[in-house]
Amino acid sequence: MRYNAWQIFKEAFTGQTGWKPVWRDPEPKKEYDIVLIGGGGHGLSTAYYLAKNHGLTNIAVLEKGYIGSGNIGRNTTIVRANYFLPGNSEFYSHSLKLWEGLESDLNYNVMHSQRGLINLFHSDGQRDAFVRRGNAMINQGDDAVLLDRDGVRQHLPYIDFDNVRFPVYGGLLHPRGGTARHDAVAWGYARGADQRGVDLIQNCEVTGIDISNGKVTGVQTSRGPIRAKKVAMVAAGRSGQVAAMAGMRLPIESHVLQAFVTEGLKPVIDHVVSFGMGHFYISQSDKGGLVFGGDLDFYSSYAQRGNLPMKEHVMEAAMTLMPMIGKAKVLRSWGGIMDMSPDGSPIIDRTHVDGLFVNCGWNYGGFKAVPASGWAYAHLIATGKPHDTAARYRLDRFTTGRGIMDEEGTGSQHNLH
Ligand SMILES: Cc1cc2nc3c(=O)[nH]c(=O)nc-3n(C[C@H](O)[C@H](O)[C@H](O)COP(=O)(O)OP(=O)(O)OC[C@H]3O[C@@H](n4cnc5c(N)ncnc54)[C@H](O)[C@@H]3O)c2cc1C
Repeated sequence: MRYNAWQIFKEAFTGQTGWKPVWRDPEPKKEYDIVLIGGGGHGLSTAYYLAKNHGLTNIAVLEKGYIGSGNIGRNTTIVRANYFLPGNSEFYSHSLKLWEGLESDLNYNVMHSQRGLINLFHSDGQRDAFVRRGNAMINQGDDAVLLDRDGVRQHLPYIDFDNVRFPVYGGLLHPRGGTARHDAVAWGYARGADQRGVDLIQNCEVTGIDISNGKVTGVQTSRGPIRAKKVAMVAAGRSGQVAAMAGMRLPIESHVLQAFVTEGLKPVIDHVVSFGMGHFYISQSDKGGLVFGGDLDFYSSYAQRGNLPMKEHVMEAAMTLMPMIGKAKVLRSWGGIMDMSPDGSPIIDRTHVDGLFVNCGWNYGGFKAVPASGWAYAHLIATGKPHDTAARYRLDRFTTGRGIMDEEGTGSQHNLH
């Protein structure tokens, strides 16, 4: 079923009885050409582009929970292409272009809203760093506008410009940055993959990876063994555990990252705003809730909930930047498991096992990467060659030291990203 205005009109007069389930619920087959481990954003987009770009459809996405239960449904929905370093710049630039055509491509409303993202700076040194970043973005073909204090004031009149410790000096505006509804992205890709014949198998946990003579032959699951010619790991925060099933030790630490949502309010924050002197960022959802977050909880964990010290830290940053927020009531908070790589950049690569692929290391920025990651991973799985935009996301950069992309400049400590 294609979604369009006529369909909505028709259903309104026929009791809303014509809508079909958005994807099937098939039993797993005994064998597939390709098995993807993980039905998050990256697994679903990979399945979609394998089918759409490469005509491969004998594919299963195995998801241990339900579609949307992982980070794809837990993030703070920010979509941007404001990376600095070669390797990341072209990848995220490609991703943003895919976002811009995604709704018509998927025939699904993912509520992509290019409302503009403003990174604030609070010192001369920070201004210099953002000028460099903005120039890198423009060189890459993306957009960046340097705002002085008055320029920021026109966009964000409600923030505290004269905080004694962190006065606002200006900001870097990325007009094409914004948000998208996170779970709709999962649903849209799931629907698109299903329509092309991909089997989405929910409640199916992979418990083992079968390897024979250095070649992958299939997986063991909670719903029985499944043979496969190729197996692609794409399990985000659980990547370390899944790769261990193939005898691999990934350079990944799993950390908790929390998100917070207030009660619904009238429109007050039009952009995505990022505080430069604390790890705090905020936007307002279309339902009216202020959606915000901060830094990692700073301990490794597989829990999908966070702890109070980071909540306090995030609330303090919020109050410092925009004291008005103290009047809003926080309704909900939750956590997701971040797959933190040593340099803060991802991995999309083959492994030492023939036919086994790895996609992970998305840190806390993998939502905006969903389209380009799926595109590049599908290319790698289908052709055996890395896609141009993701050629630097090699696994061996952490053993050779060549090609490290340390965006944050924090060195080799995961939890400082
Ligand atoms: C609070 C928070 C805020 C964030 N904010 C942003 C943001 O604003 N912008 C941004 O770009 N990124 C953001 N991120 C990061 C982004 O959400 C992730 O990097 C990205 O979603 C990870 O990829 P995914 O969608 O494939 O992960 P997931 O949705 O977690 O998918 C992985 C799937 O693998 C499944 N799985 C694991 N083990 C197995 C197994 N053994 N068998 C079968 N299935 C398995 C899991 O159940 C899960 O569904 C945020 C994350 C969090 C938690």
